[in-house]
Amino acid sequence: MKVTEHIQQAKGKTLFSFEVLPPVKGKSIESLFGVLDPLMEFNPSFINVTYHRSEQIFKRKANGTFDRIDIRKRPGTVGICAAIMNHYKVDAVPHLICGGFSMDETENALIDLNFLGIDNVLALRGDPPKNEKYFQPDPHGHHYAIDLVKQIEKLNRGQYVEEEIADGVKTDFCIGVAGYPEKHYESPNPDLDMMYLKNKIEAGADYITTQMFFDNSKYHAFVKKCREENVDVPIIPGLKPITSKKQLSGIPSLFHVDIPNDLAIEMMKCNNDKDSEKVGEEWLYQQTKDLIDSGAPVVHFYTLGKPHIIYNVMKRIL
Ligand code: FAD
Repeated sequence: MKVTEHIQQAKGKTLFSFEVLPPVKGKSIESLFGVLDPLMEFNPSFINVTYHRSEQIFKRKANGTFDRIDIRKRPGTVGICAAIMNHYKVDAVPHLICGGFSMDETENALIDLNFLGIDNVLALRGDPPKNEKYFQPDPHGHHYAIDLVKQIEKLNRGQYVEEEIADGVKTDFCIGVAGYPEKHYESPNPDLDMMYLKNKIEAGADYITTQMFFDNSKYHAFVKKCREENVDVPIIPGLKPITSKKQLSGIPSLFHVDIPNDLAIEMMKCNNDKDSEKVGEEWLYQQTKDLIDSGAPVVHFYTLGKPHIIYNVMKRIL
């Protein structure tokens, strides 16, 4: 079922969803099920699966020169989504990115997803690989998420990249896109960022999932601004627990979001990881409660290695 249908059917009740990373190469699907099993008692409406593009490493050859090699640490998003749907009978939302993909490869992935009965995709640009400063599209790929949205929307109308395909099957994907309550780090200013977001919706996106934030007033202000700009699709807040002092600097540098002063001060008082987790869990609980009280359509949790914190928060919420 589509994310937007889940929201419509909930009739104003806040739903929950989780986001997981594919297992690293060499690990079994059981490692992923180990993360999800305890969380399934909270009946998530859907589960997102992130996509991780290949990284390039340099391998020294016998003659002293180097070979540049592509490695993918976390392959298998399409297969994992199918495994999740098969195992838990819950909708899976694969993340599709522009980086590293030609339009043909994207189309083939979409065809596979359609064959598997997957109804949703989150359309993203992706970040530059670790060793590159700026995002470079594949020579036959997309530069921005909006171009990916347009490709999916065209496929929904039966238009394939291969123009000779007449009467092609029409897909019916529900398309999600990313939104940034604290602005995307490359955007010159919040107004332009909003304009690009609005363009993605006008190109055919059906809902927005936000970047994580730790100050709910940023989400509320973002929703208000979207509504003022006539962006009226569901806006799903994304939440991640902060669980260590190290993350006070790690999260802002990695995700370009602020940590509120009250949270930072409480975290700095902690003497060990257990205390830090307690502070992070309480903060996440308060954020979740406020989002439910203010009528958020879904609360989406980035589990990222800390599913027990999310479990504890959900236990207190439900
Ligand atoms: P876009 O919407 O294309 O925007 C990228 C930048 O370009 C922004 O600054 C935007 O304002 C600007 N821009 C847009 N259009 C134009 C234009 N026409 N001209 C000039 N500038 C323009 N990354 C992964 O690799 N894998 C994942 O699974 C993943 N999941 C994510 C899930 C969520 C909910 C979020 C919020 C992010 C996720 N990311 C993921 C990270 C994401 O790929 C990065 O934040 C990326 O840098 C931007 O992606 P986007 O889709 O927002 O890009």
